[in-house]
Amino acid sequence: MTLPEPVTTMAGPLRMDYTYVAGAGRSVFLRGLAGRRVLARRCPGCERVYVPAPELCSRCLRPVGPPFELDGRGVVSTFCVVNFPFPGQVHEPPYVVAHIRLDGADTRLMHLVREVAPERVRIGMRVEPVWVPDEELAASATSIRHYRPVGPADA
Ligand SMILES: [Zn+2]
Repeated sequence: MTLPEPVTTMAGPLRMDYTYVAGAGRSVFLRGLAGRRVLARRCPGCERVYVPAPELCSRCLRPVGPPFELDGRGVVSTFCVVNFPFPGQVHEPPYVVAHIRLDGADTRLMHLVREVAPERVRIGMRVEPVWVPDEELAASATSIRHYRPVGPADA
């Protein structure tokens, strides 16, 4: 008797429905975006500034302080160029997804970088948020349509 070949791959449709719960801390950040404000919060223990902020510091587990506003500008700390299509894709490739360290923050925010050719994006590029019109503002990261380069110089 010969054994069948082992199954190594299986093609089939897969659907996963889920609900994202922002939690109390990150809800503060999302509600700020609905008002065109980028809100940060500082840990009173280790001084780390979070954007978006959890309710508790991930390093020392203390409740973070009250929200305060940043201007939303920052620096590209790393990025990737998405060159391939995939099911459910919202944007047409190629496009850039970046981690952006906002001025005054110790954490990074992930967002699109547009209004620049993907091959010209680089680590250290200064960027600013481009907001949607007032009627489209919501408690969502999509209130910032994307980031774009801003002068004068790289960080
Ligand atoms: Zn802390």
